[in-house]
Amino acid sequence: MNGQMMQLPLLTSSLLVHAQRHHSDQEIVSRRVEGDVHRYTYADLARRARQLANAVAALDVTEGGRVATLAWNGYRHMELYYAVSGSGRVLNTINPRLHADQVTYIADHAENEVLFFDITFLPLVESIADRVSTVRHFVALIDKDKMPSSSRIPNLLCYEDLVEAQSASYDWPMLDEQTAATLCYTSGTTGNPKGVLYSHRSTLLHTFAAALPDSLGCSAADVILPVVPMFHVNAWGLPYAACMTGAKLVMPGAGLDGKSLYELFEAEGVTMAAGVPTVWQGLLNHVQSNGLKFSTMRRTVIGGSACPPAMVRTFEQDYNVHVVHAWGMTELSPLGTVCAFKAKHLAQNAEQRQAVQAKQGRAVFGVDMKIVSPDGAELPCDGVQTGDLLVRGHWVVSRYFKEEGEGHLQDGWFPTGDVAKIDPDGYMQITDRSKDVIKSGGEWIGSIDLENIAMAHPAVAMAACIAAKHPKWDERPLLVVMLKPGAQVTRDELLAFYDGKIAKWWTPDDVAFVDSIPLGATGKMLKHRLREQFKDYHLPTA
Ligand code: AMP
Repeated sequence: MNGQMMQLPLLTSSLLVHAQRHHSDQEIVSRRVEGDVHRYTYADLARRARQLANAVAALDVTEGGRVATLAWNGYRHMELYYAVSGSGRVLNTINPRLHADQVTYIADHAENEVLFFDITFLPLVESIADRVSTVRHFVALIDKDKMPSSSRIPNLLCYEDLVEAQSASYDWPMLDEQTAATLCYTSGTTGNPKGVLYSHRSTLLHTFAAALPDSLGCSAADVILPVVPMFHVNAWGLPYAACMTGAKLVMPGAGLDGKSLYELFEAEGVTMAAGVPTVWQGLLNHVQSNGLKFSTMRRTVIGGSACPPAMVRTFEQDYNVHVVHAWGMTELSPLGTVCAFKAKHLAQNAEQRQAVQAKQGRAVFGVDMKIVSPDGAELPCDGVQTGDLLVRGHWVVSRYFKEEGEGHLQDGWFPTGDVAKIDPDGYMQITDRSKDVIKSGGEWIGSIDLENIAMAHPAVAMAACIAAKHPKWDERPLLVVMLKPGAQVTRDELLAFYDGKIAKWWTPDDVAFVDSIPLGATGKMLKHRLREQFKDYHLPTA
């Protein structure tokens, strides 16, 4: 017998309608490329998104057609999120930090029909304008009086002209919930980026999970600042969770340096923010060197790469900001695990709690996970054994855009490429990317632990641990270190810093000091570049 409940499709437009109806006066504040701070409400967002949906139709974007953005976090990007997907087209948010060749590859592969961009990226767009084969219109996200002229893009359109020309009367279509909504490409450190095509249904289910208290924990009483870009896996779902919960949104635009972020935090009363560790490092440096405090910030979600325990300690102990460590992937929309405490942890001391926070966290409902040995056998969740991390769930990719079949799945599970352990309480801890694992004498050494220890040293700004060739052990860990400006520490002092913190044989064999560590387009350390740089490195053989 079937249940007898209403069947309404899960659509992103319903989030916007909800926000408009129930949180119409809630604010969205954006730092703009025009140089000012713009503010309006969810009612304004909904009205302009309807105008934009009419504008997209007027540009003849086909049903299911792809529309690209190269844009910062801001209200116009929000309008594009809702108007493009809600009207049955697909929004392809491209990472502007990628190389022009990769941006071109993505735009062609996605067959984008229109490209909307912030004028920060005009030089990039000009350099690819005659290479992207399917783009028919280029639209600058800027006020009319600030429109640039471009000899390379003669028919450049102004976003505000397009919106203004349209009526705000538009009925969001009742699409099938399996319809594609957005398309994100993996940051792919090797090979071409791969497209992950999210549906309205997967996005809505992900939003429910993301907003939960033990996930990102969003509420109508929150002021949320997504530092994580809207061009990186939909800013971890915050543009949707904000509409679902009616939270105030504060969008940082291009101002991602510590000073600009801090000013916005304080001026707008931000209570919660989310971003990658490298951005938080910039913010902490600014706050520390100027003797500042956070007056409203209570919680920060940190993910994208491992959050060093030293950063957790600084936030919690020095600034009274609670750190929520999270793990995800483009292929997971992105949320997989979030490190929220259980009741038993609340009674523990700070050190014990911080040991929990070093882990990437528990699976959010909707994602199932397990670890397996190289032969595919499931390993126990004993917090000791490490294995390849597999996941499946409502918002996990089943196949990449334009790829045939589900050949990359293992018995219906998605292999994440991460190596992890899971403890009996269900907390997962990433020990490495499978490509980054150091294999010493047949045993695995996880590089993340080694990096976290080095990052806790006061002289170290950033540390990467990579495998270096060794005549006896095959591979041994080499610690590559970038020091803080003006700081000094010797190789031996750094290696001695590992004493008692880790099994003796895990201690790196040597330290290489570098001026900078290469970062990818999403702020992750590019260890394959370091491996290339140090491929002929001779470790000292004692
Ligand atoms: P992306 O698809 O660009 O978001 O990259 C996903 C990858 O980032 C994951 O497979 C992990 O290797 C890494 N990652 C994300 N969050 C974390 C985290 N909290 N700790 C360690 N690695 C992470």
